[in-house]
Formats: sequence, structure tokens, C-alpha cells
Amino acid sequence: MNAISRGTHIHVTRNLIGSKWQSAISGRTLPMVEPSTGAIFAQIAASDAADIDLAVRAARQAFDEGAWGKLAAFERGRLLMRLSAAVLDNADELAGIEARDCGKPMKQARADVIATARYFEFYGGAADKLHGDTIPYLAGMTVIGLREPLGVTAHIIPWNYPMQIFGRSVGASLAAGNACVVKPAEDACLSLIRIAELALAVGFPPGALNLVTGTGEAAGGALTAHPQIDFISFTGSPEVGTLVQKAAAENHVGVTLELGGKSPQIVFADADLDSVLPFAINAIVQNAGQTCSACSRLLVERSIYDAFMERLAAAFSALRVGAHEADLDCGPLISAKQKARVETFLGEADAAGLPILARGTIVEGTADTGFFVPPTLIGNVPPEMRLAREEIFGPVLSAIPFSDEAEAVRLANSTDFGLVAALWTRDGARQMRLARALRCGQVFVNGFGAGGGIELPFGGVKKSGHGREKGFEALYEFTAMKTIVFKHG
Ligand code: NAD
Repeated sequence: MNAISRGTHIHVTRNLIGSKWQSAISGRTLPMVEPSTGAIFAQIAASDAADIDLAVRAARQAFDEGAWGKLAAFERGRLLMRLSAAVLDNADELAGIEARDCGKPMKQARADVIATARYFEFYGGAADKLHGDTIPYLAGMTVIGLREPLGVTAHIIPWNYPMQIFGRSVGASLAAGNACVVKPAEDACLSLIRIAELALAVGFPPGALNLVTGTGEAAGGALTAHPQIDFISFTGSPEVGTLVQKAAAENHVGVTLELGGKSPQIVFADADLDSVLPFAINAIVQNAGQTCSACSRLLVERSIYDAFMERLAAAFSALRVGAHEADLDCGPLISAKQKARVETFLGEADAAGLPILARGTIVEGTADTGFFVPPTLIGNVPPEMRLAREEIFGPVLSAIPFSDEAEAVRLANSTDFGLVAALWTRDGARQMRLARALRCGQVFVNGFGAGGGIELPFGGVKKSGHGREKGFEALYEFTAMKTIVFKHG
């Protein structure tokens, strides 16, 4: 796998089923495209329902009868800790793979490796601390609430942060004692194949972790519809989230949906503007804006709007865009499809005559076959436009002025989404009022770091989805409580 991060040889990867690596039963493969150049650099197994069925059976066996289902909680935790250490030991290789596969600048890919290791470490440490309850009840009776794993969990992973989202979802599920079947995104998934190799190497028993690549329709659809899975964890688009929830309904299994957002940063005139500036930029430029928790709307109090926009525009104009290896401020988008989607939104800004306040620069020598879109700052975006309402998933920031606190809250809550928000003000009472009034899953006051907080429960309201990942909260999603009532007199 080493050579995946560089070089021209085209690697062909396989699925992990039980403890065996095998090609798709059909023998078909899918090409993997390097976003920085548009060139094919690997092939993955193009799996379908037959491969998914093998993987689910392997997981079922591991959970119901295999060594995995018999491990003590601390032993599961120890394996996750070992996996965390193995990820760090192989950090350069994993970062190189993720950078090439996703188009991320190397520094971003390195940060993703560290976060992934932290997920395994956090959930490794939590595995034997997930207690049940005793419940006060009638005289002569003792009631135990036993927290049990669900069984086989299905994980549909997107392409924007393959390693991190695998870490947060699969890490929590394994810690809770489930056996996992993972269907990564067909646009970027090579780092996960390497992590699965590491999981086998550190001693995870056969079938605890199974990984099957393929398209969303053929492999993802087959996994979410499989009658022997017990839970689905999905991160991706609202449209596919609907399909996944329907599939979950057919089998009456639980589901967590993390469907992205249109998150706001709200900047009041009394904020420390020097502090706001780097956060306003990073929250939309990180990963070329392809981040579920990206802050793609900047709501700014009208009295400072022009002056702040001038400063922000100067900083935006200085942003440099290039190939993942160049390690600049921003890399390419994941695919030609995603680039076309972002350009459609930019076309709407042009057609409406909106002021383009700043654009970053694609540096010389960047391949014109890569999927590059410069970071773009658009001013005075009318709140009813698609630019201010829909998830663009690109480095496009829509700035919107507001007049007072009430209008700020109304605008912030005015989209169909509700994932995160950042709030910048020195007024303590206002901080508390707004943090309560904002309809979303996380609020950052005078700071922002939605992606970084492994310990912090994360998830949405409204069309951003439901259920919580990260932190201890995720462990409750991946377990169910059994109530046992003893009558002893
Ligand atoms: P997508 O929802 O199609 O893909 C996400 C995952 O779902 C992939 O693994 C894909 O293979 C799988 N999938 C697709 N169809 C499926 C099906 N019928 N059944 C089961 N699994 C299926 O997302 P996309 O098309 O790659 O991106 C489109 C938009 O989604 C983006 O522009 C962005 O707005 C949003 N998105 C959000 C996130 C996030 O982190 N919330 C991640 C990726 C994409």
C-alpha cells in the first residue's frame, strides 16, 4: 500500500470479509481518480449484494459465535488502543494516502490521522466504562438496566473525511461490542483499507471489522437493506439519508443520520475581530469547504459589516490553492461532479449580480485537469437565495449583514439545516441567550472547532439529521438497554 500515496503503478484493492481479503465476486472494479490531476491511480472492488451478504454473515458469525463476541470490554478497549498506536506509527503513510485520494493538503491529512488515532484511543478507553444502571422499583425487587451491544452495525462513510468518520463511527461501535460492516465512499476510501489491515495486524478477531467497497447504489443499498443488520450509521447527503432511513424502516432497525448543514458564524460589533478572522476563513476553507460542519454563512452586524468585509476580503485574496502535495491553504474538490455543483452556485451569484468580494489564487503549475475552485467570498447574499440556504460543499462563503440580535437569530435559524453555529460577542448575557436560541447540535462561543472535539457529542436537528456521534453519547447510540427485573421478596 505504501506506493498508493505516490507513484504511477495502479493498485487494485480488495474487500475485507472475516479475516480474508477478497475481490468482488463479480470480478469488477471501479477506478479511483486523483483530484489534484484527474488521473486514475487505483482500482477498488466494485462490490454488490453478494459481497455485502458475505460480509454481513461474517460479522454476524463474529458477534453471535466468534471470538469477538466473547471478549471482555477491557479487551476490546485494548485492541482499539493498539489500533490507535498503529495508526500513529503509520501516520505518514496514512496521511499520504488520504491526501492523494481526497485532494487534501498534507497538513490537513496529517491532522486527520491524529484525530483518527484519538477516536480509537477515546473509545478504547471508554469500552470498559460504559456502565448500565440499577433502577429503584418495588419492595422485594431489584432491577438491572444492562447496556448491551446491538449486534451487527452498518457504516456508510462519505469521501470528505474517510478516516475521521470511520474512527468516530466504527470506533464507537466496536468499543460497544458490535461487529461492523463498513461501506466507504467510492470517491475516496483507500486509507480505510490500510486501517483495516492494521486492525487485523493488531489482533482484532475475524469478522469484528469487515470492509466492502463499491458504489452507493449497488453496495450501500444492499448493506442498508440487508435483513441481518441491527443498526445503520450514515454520513452523507440528505437525499441518500432519506433512502437509508427508508431502508432502516423496512427492517425496523435504528439509524443515525449526519447530513451536513448550512452553519452560520454570527459576528457582533463587540467581538474581538482579530480572533474572528482566522476562524471565519478556516471554517470554510478547510478541506475546500467539503466539511459537514463548515460555516458557509457569515452573519455580520451591519455597523461593522463594511469594515470587517474589507479585512476578510484581503485575507481571502491571499489564499493559495494547489495540489495536495503542494500543501497550500486549499486543495481541489473531490470530483468533476462536485466541482460542477459548486460552479453552478457561483454562476447563480454572477447571474444575480452579487458582489464577489474576494477570490483565492490557483497557483501556477497546478494541473488544469484537477478539480480546483478558488475560495470565494460573496457579499450581501439575500437570505432567500440557494447560496444562503443549501449546502454547497465547496469553499464558498456567503456574507449576510444583520441589524440586531433578533434578526441574527432569525437568519441563523432560517435554513432547513441545524448542525453547528459559532457566535462571536463579548456580552455574556447575549452569549447565553443566543446559545439557547440557536437550533443546532453544537454552539461555539468565541471560537470554533466542530471537527476537532472527539469528546464532544455531535449531530444535527432538522435536515442535518438525528442521533449523536462522538463523545460518550455515541456509545449509547450503539447499545440498547435491557431491563432485568428480579423478584426476591
Ligand atoms: P452521498 O450521500 O451520495 O454519498 C455518501 C455515502 O453514501 C457514500 O459512501 C455513498 O456510496 C453512499 N450511498 C450513495 N447512495 C446510496 C444508497 N442508495 N444507499 C446506501 N448508500 C449510498 O453523497 P455524494 O453524492 O458523494 O455528495 C453529494 C452531496 O452530499 C455533497 O455535495 C454534500 O452536500 C453532501 N455530503 C455531505 C457529507 C457530510 O459529511 N455530511 C459528506 C458527503 C457529502
